[in-house]
Amino acid sequence: MGQIMEEKPYLIVGQGLAGSLLGYELLKACKKVLLVDPNEANTSSKVAAGLYNPITGKKMQKTWLADTLFPFLEHYYSEVEQTLGIRALFPMGIYRPFLSLEEQNDWMGRSAETSYQAYLKEVSTHSADIPQLKDPLGGLHLQKAGYVHLPRLLAAFRHYFLERNSLETGHFQEESLHTAQGIQYKNQDFEALIYCNGTAAQSHPLWHWLPFRPVKGEVLEAKATQTLPYVINRGVFILPTEEQTWRIGATYQWKDLNDRPTEAAKEELLQKMQEIWTGEIQIINHRAGVRPATVDRRPILGKHPERTGVYLFNGLGTKGVSLAPYFANQMAQHLLIGTQIPHEVSIERFFSLYFPSKASL
Ligand SMILES: Cc1cc2nc3c(=O)[nH]c(=O)nc-3n(C[C@H](O)[C@H](O)[C@H](O)COP(=O)(O)OP(=O)(O)OC[C@H]3O[C@@H](n4cnc5c(N)ncnc54)[C@H](O)[C@@H]3O)c2cc1C
Repeated sequence: MGQIMEEKPYLIVGQGLAGSLLGYELLKACKKVLLVDPNEANTSSKVAAGLYNPITGKKMQKTWLADTLFPFLEHYYSEVEQTLGIRALFPMGIYRPFLSLEEQNDWMGRSAETSYQAYLKEVSTHSADIPQLKDPLGGLHLQKAGYVHLPRLLAAFRHYFLERNSLETGHFQEESLHTAQGIQYKNQDFEALIYCNGTAAQSHPLWHWLPFRPVKGEVLEAKATQTLPYVINRGVFILPTEEQTWRIGATYQWKDLNDRPTEAAKEELLQKMQEIWTGEIQIINHRAGVRPATVDRRPILGKHPERTGVYLFNGLGTKGVSLAPYFANQMAQHLLIGTQIPHEVSIERFFSLYFPSKASL
């Protein structure tokens, strides 16, 4: 009688949004998984406001890959909610007050463009009549937007993985890893090792050569003084949560990359609030974290240039909520059946940095 070989599990470093969704994808495919994560408080995923917004930036452009990512993500998080038995997805419009008549005119024109139509609900030329909101020229109403309650989602995933013996609490112990003949960790064999370690990758011996560009961000939490029907977003966002609070954010800071909240960021957010809001703000919390961003603002997926069985899924940057579902799925398909990772997000686009002598040949 032939011996039945037991399938080896996948080993994942980090249970942030990237690691959680990748672990979920692999378990869904009936694979075994072990995640290792210290369950620390101020990780990017736990501090994040959780917004997903199809039209962003100073120039208000459709975000990269929006037509692919946005139809995918709401369906995806709904399925996750059902699996975990929680509510974490809150679809909600976004309202952007106009600051000038030029801007109002510009959007009247752009609203006719078919490529924007899926995301534009209305271009309004009169105030939304929200007490204390300054919007005399009306504003832009966006749809297919909302937020994901990431702390709740991650806590539920943690429970889900623990129940399945798929999570070890603590830091990954590099000294217990051997990669000479397959992946061995603490004397157990694994199919592959995937680092979903967020900003820690920047100082990791296997990944430090990649062009990460982490961005610190700070978010305030304030008592809700009224019910808002949507997110308000103009220089600063006011996101009304289920818990009758508002999340106000966020700052972008490329120096002092730590998770300590600062007075300067609080001042910056409150000043921006004054431009759109006349009411008092009662702050009840203030948090900071560092986003795992990259120089070209695209995620990084794929295998280490030299180490067999060692992978990275990282670089979700400022938009993890909208990027993670689609790319966790792609990463899983790559691991499971070898589906090719698109060059735009593949780690291979940076291989010349790892092999500089070959690049100059
Ligand atoms: C202030 C702020 C606001 C944000 N707002 C939004 C928003 O509104 N919308 C949006 O889409 N995105 C937002 N983001 C970005 C979002 O948080 C990220 O894109 C995403 O959560 C990154 O997920 P990740 O899993 O890659 O990283 P992380 O959440 O950082 O997870 C990495 C995990 O790896 C673990 N880890 C690291 N080293 C080790 C080790 N040696 N051993 C074991 N585990 C390890 C960490 O503890 C952590 O749990 C915001 C971020 C910040 C800071």
